[in-house]
Amino acid sequence: MIWFTWQISGSGYRCVDGVLYANSATKAQALACLREEFAESICLEFANLDCTPEQVLEFAGRFGLLKDPSDQAESIATWEQEVTSIRAVLSISASGDAEHATTKYAEGWSRQSGVEASYSPNAYKSGLEFRCVPRDFSSWLWLQVGQTLRDRKVGRCKQCNVLFFKGGGKGRRRAQSRSTKQFCTIECKVTFNNSLSKERRQSISPVS
Ligand SMILES: [Zn+2]
Repeated sequence: MIWFTWQISGSGYRCVDGVLYANSATKAQALACLREEFAESICLEFANLDCTPEQVLEFAGRFGLLKDPSDQAESIATWEQEVTSIRAVLSISASGDAEHATTKYAEGWSRQSGVEASYSPNAYKSGLEFRCVPRDFSSWLWLQVGQTLRDRKVGRCKQCNVLFFKGGGKGRRRAQSRSTKQFCTIECKVTFNNSLSKERRQSISPVS
């Protein structure tokens, strides 16, 4: 139900003095409604950005600028504000304070340009379909985070500290993402367990 037309510069972006500039006119992609897992992973990747010019350029090269799609330039400070704010919502959720997370979410959403909502003809089935179409990428990120938080929990990886979603979902996906999950990936779980057993071995046989 969340649809969006990504507008991306065909030849990427460059960063000069803390401002991103499109290297060419932006091209509008087809209106799309992403599968939940894709949408979630974009939100997570965004929340985990360090906001160095390199990281922001790489991300913008795939998804475009955050605000007014007709703008050809955007400050990295805008990215820092949205990344910090979405990360705060997820961190607070991960700590279990749902009420505070909700307040922070509402604060962030109030800064967004919002959505257009409509009943539109469905391309594949007859009848109408409810669509929310965010006015910019930043609004899409916030809307998608809100939708995900209704159904899923946020965890923080015990090994690498990144935020991830867990619990909720259906069928196979639910089984793969139990709400008790402690690591973002199998790799992190293995690294963590290996370092634990190494510590144990060292404590059992101290170096003489
Ligand atoms: Zn991890």
